[in-house]
Amino acid sequence: MLQVQNLEVVYDDVMLVLRGVSVAVPPGGIVALLGANGAGKTTLLRAITGLLDVHDGEVTKGSVTLDGEPVHHLRPAALVRRGICQVMEGRRIFAELTVEENLRIGGHTSPRTIKARMEDVLTLFPVLAERRRRTAGYLSGGEQQMLAMGRALMAEPRYLLLDEPSLGLAPRLVEQVRGLIVEINKRGTGVLLVEQNATMALSIAAHGYVLETGKVVLDKPADQLLADEDIREFYLGLT
Ligand code: ATP
Repeated sequence: MLQVQNLEVVYDDVMLVLRGVSVAVPPGGIVALLGANGAGKTTLLRAITGLLDVHDGEVTKGSVTLDGEPVHHLRPAALVRRGICQVMEGRRIFAELTVEENLRIGGHTSPRTIKARMEDVLTLFPVLAERRRRTAGYLSGGEQQMLAMGRALMAEPRYLLLDEPSLGLAPRLVEQVRGLIVEINKRGTGVLLVEQNATMALSIAAHGYVLETGKVVLDKPADQLLADEDIREFYLGLT
């Protein structure tokens, strides 16, 4: 179980951005983390993956634990070895490298051969197989999103953290990314899905959290969040 407990995060020593947030991702589950711009979703992911200090942020209270062991002080590479991988917002692929080279970079930590894992990832993402020797910077936005997900999967994570994977994608591609998340999850990977697209996220998540100005204001099974008219309107912006 990946657990965030009572987490408090401060930027620049003064700005309190997370105020006692608790979130749990069970092994093999999909959990949605929703909330408006600036609610603190990306900050929560940074806290899990040890990337806060790059942004002058700091955990001032609470903990992030993996199977009971604290992990929020680990460097990102050490976390990947423990099975936690993040796909950041904006994809962050290596634009000058080919698709295949990008995938190889993601694959140095798992015991299975890179070749075997590359075959799995290319089977899951046929579009990457077709373009495996193409320079990544020339891929479309949707293809780059898939490459970023494929690269994270090369490490065979137990938990995958996705920051707005549907951002900027056409509806057809959002549908495709949604299907891929389901498929990845079926293979046993737990997913923490940060999304503005509440409908998409809650359609595949078992559980959802809604963050508002650094606090969890809702913590419920996904079907209950979707079924409640008030929640749909006031928190999810759905009608
Ligand atoms: P978005 O969807 O826009 O990414 P978010 O829910 O992910 O929003 P965060 O990016 O975590 O929200 O931001 C939460 C708050 O922290 C915002 O008020 C933001 O301005 C502030 N913040 C984020 N990064 C920093 C930083 N490096 N230094 C200072 N403040 C920051």
